[in-house]
Amino acid sequence: MLLLVDLDGVVYRGPEPVPGVAELLSRRVAAGDRVIYCTNNSRWHRSQYRARLAEMGAPVAEGGVVSAARATALALAERAPRRTMVLGGPGLARELRDVGLRVVPPTPRGVAAAPDALVVGVDFSLSYRRLSSAVMVARGGALFVATNRDRVFPLPDGLHAGAGSIVEAVAYASAREPDLTIGKPEPGLFLEAAASVGVDPASAVVIGDSLHTDLVAARTIGARAVLMLTGVTTRATVDALPPAERPPYVAADAGELAAILDRLAAG
Ligand SMILES: [Mg+2]
Repeated sequence: MLLLVDLDGVVYRGPEPVPGVAELLSRRVAAGDRVIYCTNNSRWHRSQYRARLAEMGAPVAEGGVVSAARATALALAERAPRRTMVLGGPGLARELRDVGLRVVPPTPRGVAAAPDALVVGVDFSLSYRRLSSAVMVARGGALFVATNRDRVFPLPDGLHAGAGSIVEAVAYASAREPDLTIGKPEPGLFLEAAASVGVDPASAVVIGDSLHTDLVAARTIGARAVLMLTGVTTRATVDALPPAERPPYVAADAGELAAILDRLAAG
């Protein structure tokens, strides 16, 4: 099976590994499953996630991490823009350069380069000048791509502004919506991940902790999904759903996840 595994709230929670998940995934890979980690986070380059996962003992293959930044790069490469302005972090710009795109910064010089695409992700260096440069490019009619529309970005000291909040500012100022949004709950992230290994997305199993992002995107691609209660969703939230909307597979911990995956693998 191809397992599309969310990171925060499933493999780790902030700085702490979720007990037993890395070991379980290692056993699944040894038994023949493939694991691709799929995260909406666009801040880091995939090599940084790979290093962190390896440190936790989680199995991570070459190409085994598809972040919203990586999926955005893959989707944008197909559209072959001449120059792309990036309002986001250095990891996002690096992912775009990795697929051969020419990247310009969100500065007056970047605007002067007349980019025909604009990518917006979470930008820890956001300033009025950077935002306004992106707005000028959006208003000029460039292809407008959002890595994701998360309202918030979780950090150890609380919830910070997410990529979606920055996308919203660009959209408001330019009076237009993004042409394309890649991250969950949109299906682009899972579709790029499945395509990267040549697997039918509908045959994949999504493992995620969010009803509103992971499970919505799983439904859109026709994949089975396991909801983990190790992140943002509690048992009480699931119990409060109307029975028809309750996810069929819910796991409180790695042990329950292991049992569900055994059942799904048995068909
Ligand atoms: Mg999550």
